[in-house]
Amino acid sequence: MRADVVVVGAGIVGVSVALHLQKRGRAVVLVDRRQPGEETSFGNAGIVQHEAVLPHAFPQSLGTLWRYALNRSPEARYHLSALPAVAPFLARYWWHSRPARHRIIAERYASLIRHCVAEHLSLATEAGCARLFHRQGWIKVFRSQASMDRALREAEEARRGFGVESVVLTGEELLRKEPFLRERLAGGLHWTSPITVPNPHELTLQYAALFKRLGGRLAPGNAATLGESGCDWRIETTQGTVAAPQVVVALGPWADIVTAKLGYRLPLAVKRGYHMHYGIEGNAVLNHPIVDADMGYCLAPMASGIRLTTGAEFALRDAPKTPVQLDIVEPAARRMFPLRERLDRDPWMGARPCTPDMLPIIGPAPRHRNLWFAIGHGHQGLTLGPVTGRLVAELVVGDQPFVDPAPYRVERF
Ligand SMILES: Cc1cc2nc3c(=O)[nH]c(=O)nc-3n(C[C@H](O)[C@H](O)[C@H](O)COP(=O)(O)OP(=O)(O)OC[C@H]3O[C@@H](n4cnc5c(N)ncnc54)[C@H](O)[C@@H]3O)c2cc1C
Repeated sequence: MRADVVVVGAGIVGVSVALHLQKRGRAVVLVDRRQPGEETSFGNAGIVQHEAVLPHAFPQSLGTLWRYALNRSPEARYHLSALPAVAPFLARYWWHSRPARHRIIAERYASLIRHCVAEHLSLATEAGCARLFHRQGWIKVFRSQASMDRALREAEEARRGFGVESVVLTGEELLRKEPFLRERLAGGLHWTSPITVPNPHELTLQYAALFKRLGGRLAPGNAATLGESGCDWRIETTQGTVAAPQVVVALGPWADIVTAKLGYRLPLAVKRGYHMHYGIEGNAVLNHPIVDADMGYCLAPMASGIRLTTGAEFALRDAPKTPVQLDIVEPAARRMFPLRERLDRDPWMGARPCTPDMLPIIGPAPRHRNLWFAIGHGHQGLTLGPVTGRLVAELVVGDQPFVDPAPYRVERF
């Protein structure tokens, strides 16, 4: 099979890249060992985080660091056995999270984030699935005035620095928006501009379906077989060898399968996360995704039940599941909202593909011709998929990029 471009990895990022390239008249083959959207892009909280202009920083306060070190925080845990491998990443992550540095990074992140809703709605409209999106935003809820005050300071920074709007809710106002919350909470912060999708997997499938309608091809294959041959890149698939002059690597947490083989030592790590679905008692309804700021989990109303997603687990990508955080936060979630029984046999686990400076890696590989990276989208891969897709496609075909791509190039490491 010949193509103009091979895209390796069919999560939300790879599918969006492939679709944008196909829309620009390139013949694209999208290669994955599974069907589209079945890994990290399957089980996230479904929020297109238009508010996420301040990326998740490594804590700087000694108190929080100490709490994390004790490994009892529900929002962040680590495997002791993974520390030697993860420590260099954590050190760089801490360095990039210092306030002055974080402000610069936020500017660069915001240049991508600000387009996320428009780019999703544009693709979704073309794909005929804009109805999948809900436009009511999401709500962060607070158990104490102290945590609310902290979040309000950040909200003010997001508003003043980047024009992201939010509405502060008293305890009573929160209850009017979410009448089935059972706990008396200090209040909430309603981010009104994000959109949410109650089935992120279905969204990726719809984008992949549009890609196919436009003539794109999907081929099951293993990224480990990618290699150079003359002027082409070649990869083995169940439909035979695919050869193309250009290749885009969009393997999310598995990027190292290709990058390490080609000699790029990138400082990538994963923050693993879990989800579980629950039934709801009686006629209770959850109108928005809510994030419990003090316990570090999200409850999102999904097509398949109420989805509880957990915070970050620093562990090796392939280590066995340890859904401790789920067990810790579930009782708190049950006190907050009338959840019934668990609906999944096992917790689902995904691995957020992270870089230490919290920015994705987007752009050409420095030491190989026609090799492109679209990786490292961390906490916001669903949010940024279509933005990255458009940016990569514009770079590959030589169009004027709609966002300055310089801050995302791999050479920064
Ligand atoms: C609990 C949780 C909640 C989250 N909530 C949100 C949220 O609300 N909003 C948000 O924006 N983001 C959220 N995220 C992050 C988001 O899900 C990820 O950033 C995003 O899914 C990454 O997409 P990706 O396409 O880069 O990776 P993936 O979706 O993992 O895609 C990578 C692809 O590579 C393929 N692959 C791997 N190895 C091979 C191989 N050897 N050969 C061929 N193919 C291979 C895989 O099969 C997979 O399809 C959340 C993540 C987690 C874990």
